[in-house]
Amino acid sequence: MAGTGPTEELAPQDSYLSTAEGHVLGVAEGGLYLDRTVFYARGGGQPGDVGTITWDEGSVEVVDTVRQDGKPFHVVAEGSVLPDPGTAVEGVIDWERRYLTMRTHTALHALSGVIFRDFGAKVTGGNMTPGEARMDFELDAISVEFGNEVERRLNEELVKGYPTEIIVMAREIALQDPDLIRTKVNLIPEFVTDIRVVDIKGLDRQADGGTHVHSTLEVGRIEVVKTESKGKANKRMRIRVTKADPL
Ligand SMILES: [Zn+2]
Repeated sequence: MAGTGPTEELAPQDSYLSTAEGHVLGVAEGGLYLDRTVFYARGGGQPGDVGTITWDEGSVEVVDTVRQDGKPFHVVAEGSVLPDPGTAVEGVIDWERRYLTMRTHTALHALSGVIFRDFGAKVTGGNMTPGEARMDFELDAISVEFGNEVERRLNEELVKGYPTEIIVMAREIALQDPDLIRTKVNLIPEFVTDIRVVDIKGLDRQADGGTHVHSTLEVGRIEVVKTESKGKANKRMRIRVTKADPL
């Protein structure tokens, strides 16, 4: 049972929250739903959060968070004893992992901004794990030298400290924004009337539900670790954010 009522999702509102109190909305095979959660449900190329959910008599380890029945579903370790619906709980995410994911996600958006601005190529796909990511571009060719050049240009931009802003705009407005059109805002289901936009002001702007750092300074440095061809007009670049916390 997913439980009745919605889940208040805190991650898209404040990506820097690492704990939150709530109640069990419902339990199902392998996991549970909460009425309020700090866990990010896997989506838009960003992995789901892991962490712990604790209540008076016990706790469970959350090994993934996915979207199920339209709500974040906290997947628990096998053999876990689940709390009853209605139980008051506290959720705590693995913040180190999440923060690294936020740096990686913002790095990917900055990368797509630089590639479009300097080379006019659009993104065709992408994915990330905490600290590493890949992105595919509509480029005719790619080389190690090109990868090195992009690495240099991207790092040059990151240290400028572009602020990252979250904007919510009406669908009709979003559909007329050139940057959002380029990043295929029209593919968002029609029932979504408010579009969440991640605006790395002056560098990249796209509709996105993920969690990001406040400034490109927090990303630190990135390395382009691999470039490869995935077919005509589809070239892949793999990046890594350096592990050290930049601040
Ligand atoms: Zn994104």
